[in-house]
Amino acid sequence: MEIEVQLTGSPIAEKISPPPLAAHGAWLEFRGAVRDEENGEKISGLEYEAYPEMAVREIRRLLETLATRHPCLAARVIHRVGIVPVGEAAIYVGIASQHRAEAIALLGEFMNGLKQGVPIWKRRAFPIVQSERRSESPKLVEKAAGHRPALRSLDEAVAEIHLRCQPLPAVRVPLADAFGRVLRETVCATENLPVNDCSTRDGYAILADDASEIFQIVDTIHAADWKPRQLRHGETVRVATGAALPCENVRVLMQENVERNGDKIKIQKRESAFNLRKRGEDMKAGQPLLQSGGRLDAGKLALLAAAGFTQPLVSPRLRVCHFTTGDEIISPDKTPKPGQIRDSNSILIHGLLKNFDYELVQRHLPEDFGQARQIISTFKLQLSNFNLLLVSGGASVGEKDFTRPLLEWLGFEIVFAQVNVRPGRPLIFGVNGNGVAFGLPGNPLSHFVCFHFAVATALAKLAGENAPAFLRGKLAAKLDDSPCPRETLWPAKLEFLRGEINLSPLPWASSGDVTCFAAANALIRVPANVGALAAGAEVDFLPTAGFGLWPNQSSHRLDAAPKPF
Ligand code: AMP
Ligand code: MG
Repeated sequence: MEIEVQLTGSPIAEKISPPPLAAHGAWLEFRGAVRDEENGEKISGLEYEAYPEMAVREIRRLLETLATRHPCLAARVIHRVGIVPVGEAAIYVGIASQHRAEAIALLGEFMNGLKQGVPIWKRRAFPIVQSERRSESPKLVEKAAGHRPALRSLDEAVAEIHLRCQPLPAVRVPLADAFGRVLRETVCATENLPVNDCSTRDGYAILADDASEIFQIVDTIHAADWKPRQLRHGETVRVATGAALPCENVRVLMQENVERNGDKIKIQKRESAFNLRKRGEDMKAGQPLLQSGGRLDAGKLALLAAAGFTQPLVSPRLRVCHFTTGDEIISPDKTPKPGQIRDSNSILIHGLLKNFDYELVQRHLPEDFGQARQIISTFKLQLSNFNLLLVSGGASVGEKDFTRPLLEWLGFEIVFAQVNVRPGRPLIFGVNGNGVAFGLPGNPLSHFVCFHFAVATALAKLAGENAPAFLRGKLAAKLDDSPCPRETLWPAKLEFLRGEINLSPLPWASSGDVTCFAAANALIRVPANVGALAAGAEVDFLPTAGFGLWPNQSSHRLDAAPKPF
């Protein structure tokens, strides 16, 4: 891997051109900006100090080690030292790799390793004086509205979610509760399966090399019997399907191929098949059965049951709370008056979550920040038990958009508040200990898009499995668009044609358009500023939840329909 490391006292450039190697695959960029809070104190900047030579050497060494596990083409790291104001980047990482997933994995581990083993540290923080601080006063909303939220690229946003969401502690549960959970241990067989050689037919066991025509029946073995004995030439044992065979080196004649007379049989037709399962032919003691990190589905659970693992170590059931906001939102069973909109986000989230094992609470919040806080206060304690909080709407900078201050009031540190993607730009991401929150733009298509690239990533990380990643496919038809300064995640219909992935872009009028949901099962990644893409062009795409292309994906568990109102 080509490595370039630089420490600088100057601001990191807004645009950094990728190395030539990046032309051969994906180019992932990450910028870590100084946040406005340090140890609970509002700050205006941080001062970084480093042992430059040692820091450069250690960063290089860390990247080289990680590259053995996550093969990438090139890495460029720029770390700023000295005083860095809030909002400016303290670190820039660019990684070129053949596949985006490798770069994301390397980046995640690099950022963890950087904190632990590289001699660069925060020397001091510059606190904001009291009068500058935001308070919980009613002015909060207006101040938040005027606040310029931190903007991230799509890759930066995804990388930050990867970094900030850690797997929740695993639990042991009975098999019946483990469906849809992520297995958090590698399970190895403790015994051979089958335990003994056994018959696959109802028939007659004879010595494998016995060429006799007529056999004396000397015993009968049913499926539950254990009757070891030696056989001689001319002897046979009547066996049932699944019965443990009496000794080594036998074969089973199907009963359809022999004629029975009292306690004797005569071969009617010789078969080449042995009609038995050999001891340990499915799995041998010590052999890995399931790797850690896969989602448990019916087949995997059946395998665990057969191997006697009745309490697997799995991810905990994820607890999710979804608030809808907006006084114009009404229940889907009501007829909208002018200005009102039926709530489609609640059932959307309910359905999208079906791919995870979850517990969901959905509530509607009034548009008034004070009233909303009052409602939340009544179950705030319960809220602290949730792993994921989703707030629908109010994520932008309008006068009534209170999602950001609401999350801050609940104790979440806001990691970013905008992503340079269409649709779905006003996406807020916050963390609070092990809890994660997203403020999702209320428009249904934005909700859908943000769920797939952001919320699903967080859920996968919390559960301890690989997050859904972009795949490569071909455009089945022209994607007609004018150049947009933002990247676009364009709804599409994915089909397999002659073994190839074909993506047909779907028409959508705006981020409020719900008509394309019914057909969409993929999101095409359209780079910024490119405009139309020709039919046949190779593109990155994200399969949607439930399509079956997600890593480790299995089905869902049944759940009650949501009752948000
Ligand atoms: P907001 O993000 O709150 O500015 O909302 C943007 C648009 O999304 C507005 O037209 C809202 O009416 C609409 N919207 C917000 N919440 C929902 C919802 N739960 N279901 C359908 N549309 C919604
Ligand atoms: Mg709203």
